[in-house]
Amino acid sequence: MDISIVVPLYNEAESLPELSAWISRVMAQKGFTYEVIFVNDGSTDNSLEVIKGLAKDDEHIRCVSFSRNYGKSPALNEGFRRTKGDVVITMDADLQDSPDEIPELYRMITEDGYDLVSGWKKKRYDPLSKTIPTKLFNATARKVSGIKNLHDFNCGLKAYRKEVVKHIEIYGDMHRYIPYLAKNAGYKKIGEKVVHHQARKYGVTKFGLDRFVNGYLDLATLWFQSKFGIKPMHLFGLLGSLMFIIGFLAIIVVLVLKCVSLCSSDYHFYVTNSVYFYLSLAAMVMGLQFFLTGFVGELITRNSPERNNYLIGEEW
Ligand code: UDP
Ligand code: MG
Repeated sequence: MDISIVVPLYNEAESLPELSAWISRVMAQKGFTYEVIFVNDGSTDNSLEVIKGLAKDDEHIRCVSFSRNYGKSPALNEGFRRTKGDVVITMDADLQDSPDEIPELYRMITEDGYDLVSGWKKKRYDPLSKTIPTKLFNATARKVSGIKNLHDFNCGLKAYRKEVVKHIEIYGDMHRYIPYLAKNAGYKKIGEKVVHHQARKYGVTKFGLDRFVNGYLDLATLWFQSKFGIKPMHLFGLLGSLMFIIGFLAIIVVLVLKCVSLCSSDYHFYVTNSVYFYLSLAAMVMGLQFFLTGFVGELITRNSPERNNYLIGEEW
């Protein structure tokens, strides 16, 4: 099979018939063998019934339906587990992404040899309250992830080589960072294609402003995981040692000043009045906490079933 199209959806009943017809038109034109996997993320409208109706007349349509709303990332993850095509395309269900882009995305994966191609909504049809923070967010993501050529990490329209989706796990809200997840798994040939974007035709956006706060927190988590995920002591041990050194130096100062004051008749030094005393106290307590966090982290990674999961590129 050439292509698997994964479509996560939450309350998108009005858009589905149009989307499905558009996809089959494009696929028929190019003669691809394909499947469309609709992942119904616990919709409360009649999206599921609409999909059932569409599937009756079209054997390419498959459906996974969650019993409640889990989020876009879990929906993509479950879709990915079920794909059979050589190239996997993801797209939003709200008609903002155009199926006309699929043939070129497919070509970039199969002929240009990309592992992942991400869409870039260069001209966006979204409100300013969304586009401006998105620019900032993408700049940070580029810096932290080291994927310098991507302008639009969170574009719903993406294409993947089959192996990529089988080897990455998307959870929480991590769909915003799939290129970063792919890079961490060793798939480094990541490209970009300018894609046509449309204003939302039906329904409303499913993400509020909290997307930006959560987005940054997730980025911090991913950065930490990729750098220190299997060796937490390397970070916490370093911080702990630094704190201990600061604490030690401060306590030496306290001792020296106390000795001087004991030997002198007109210089009085009170330990509890000294800023160095409090500095050493705070530094020692923080140092100990960093060390303990590091140890607990090491114990957790040691017991993790993932600790020796390596992705083998080739083997003879
Ligand atoms: N979506 C989903 N589960 C959710 C929220 C969204 O499957 O909990 C789907 C949604 O139906 C759409 C895609 O994810 O197909 C992108 O959502 P949306 O269009 O609301 O995001 P925006 O375009 O505003 O960033
Ligand atoms: Mg949308």
